[in-house]
Amino acid sequence: MTLLELKNVSVAYGRIEAIHDMSFSVDEGEIVSLIGANGAGKSTTMKTISGLLNPSKGTITFDGTDITKMKAHIRVVQGISQAPEGRGIFPGMTVLENLDMGAFGRKDRSGMSADFDRVFSLFPRLAERKTQVGGTMSGGEQQMLAIGRALMSAPRLLLLDEPSMGLAPQFIKQIFSIISEINAQGTTILLVEQNANQALARANRGFVLETGSITHSGTGRELLANPAIKEAYLGVG
Ligand code: ATP
Repeated sequence: MTLLELKNVSVAYGRIEAIHDMSFSVDEGEIVSLIGANGAGKSTTMKTISGLLNPSKGTITFDGTDITKMKAHIRVVQGISQAPEGRGIFPGMTVLENLDMGAFGRKDRSGMSADFDRVFSLFPRLAERKTQVGGTMSGGEQQMLAIGRALMSAPRLLLLDEPSMGLAPQFIKQIFSIISEINAQGTTILLVEQNANQALARANRGFVLETGSITHSGTGRELLANPAIKEAYLGVG
């Protein structure tokens, strides 16, 4: 079943168009990876799906509902949650307070309590540091907190923008295996990554974005095997 669909979406910053006539979809249960060079439009695409930016053209549908004009906080209630690039946690708040913010507006206490448990079992480090102030945590820990906070709204679609950015190699492996685990628990994931190798290896399908347009698409495996993509994004000739 199609969960998210973008149809002919264009997004502009003032007079400069960053995304041109983009169409793609994400099926329920998938991990879909969006890869591309700096400035290709990956973050712009994510912000347009979460509602932080508005398209100048085209439509976005989520679970059969047109959400093109829906405000960002309503999209969260509908089931779309974004862990932003650059982490974006609340630095003056504790781990628990940050996670609470992710559950803002929820009233289902038993569901919330199950989601706290889910986050602490995915990220035992957060369970050990419940009262630590977010801003004093390491980069990797803040990344875990950002993902944990996004999960606290019980999303059907989790948007992850560069989750491996700035992490040490052992943390990168860990974050990607946790992403697969979140997906195995039933959450659909749209992943934006510079680390194309890992992102495509984990993905059911992937898209390559170049200067605001999709230039390649396929299964993760197909894209990993494509010589042009290998040369441009996977660091091998
Ligand atoms: P990176 O991997 O470097 O984060 P990206 O693929 O996420 O890159 P975007 O951040 O989506 O790329 O940027 C796409 C294009 O839009 C770039 O040319 C960028 O300079 C431009 N852009 C992004 N944000 C703004 C803004 N607020 N105002 C004007 N132009 C912007």
